[in-house]
Amino acid sequence: MVGLARGSWWILNRLKQSATDLLLPPQCARCGIDLPEFDRIPLCADCQAVLSNDDAFCPRCGQFGQRHGGDGTACLRCREAKFRFDSVISLGWYRGDLREAILTMKRPSGECLSTGIAQLLAVRREHLLRGFDADCIVPIPMYWGRRIWRGVNSAQVLSEELSRQVGVPVLTGVLVRNRNTRPQKDLGHAERFRNVRGAFSLRRGYGLGGTRVIVVDDVMTTGATCNEVTKVLKKGGVNAVCAVVVGRAATGR
Ligand SMILES: [Zn+2]
Ligand SMILES: [Zn+2]
Repeated sequence: MVGLARGSWWILNRLKQSATDLLLPPQCARCGIDLPEFDRIPLCADCQAVLSNDDAFCPRCGQFGQRHGGDGTACLRCREAKFRFDSVISLGWYRGDLREAILTMKRPSGECLSTGIAQLLAVRREHLLRGFDADCIVPIPMYWGRRIWRGVNSAQVLSEELSRQVGVPVLTGVLVRNRNTRPQKDLGHAERFRNVRGAFSLRRGYGLGGTRVIVVDDVMTTGATCNEVTKVLKKGGVNAVCAVVVGRAATGR
């Protein structure tokens, strides 16, 4: 009886919340202003403009403003880097307003913003995301201790919303973070690659052989983390990996 009462209370609350959602106008997930009408993206036009960048970016490393052939070939800079992943899709430069938004996304209070940004990414990069023709989405996992401390893994929230938007399933448990690595931001270029070496492993039984995988993270700086994850996935038989990130740092490789 108690269980039923609790269940009914929960359902009533959900109904009340849904009714409130219907009555109140939707609000921008970043600045909170009322949105004039229902849009696929819960961000106002100003926020959409400052959070995304429609300049050309290198399809191989995701860097904006890098010269490349325009035919899917790598830019001069990442041709030397020899990344293991096949392509990168990014929303904008990791600086200014987008950097601030990404830092907010790392906090539990930033979950709505992560969802809004994932929707913006899905709309702005729709042809690239669909063009990759992925079989599944894999978020870059956070070490469990850090996850408990932080309360949220923004890569996971981004992956779940991207999955809803592009209709590709998320495989959450397939990739495991074996240890807590030092924050990449405190390290130099070569150190970042060393820092993540051996940090990830693959759980057996997911049948990834021959598949195309999208890996999702909030930021790419040197590409060391996505590179290491790609190494593990490809050892497990994955055919192609596309790294999807919100912010791409302009420096580093
Ligand atoms: Zn706004
Ligand atoms: Zn490049």
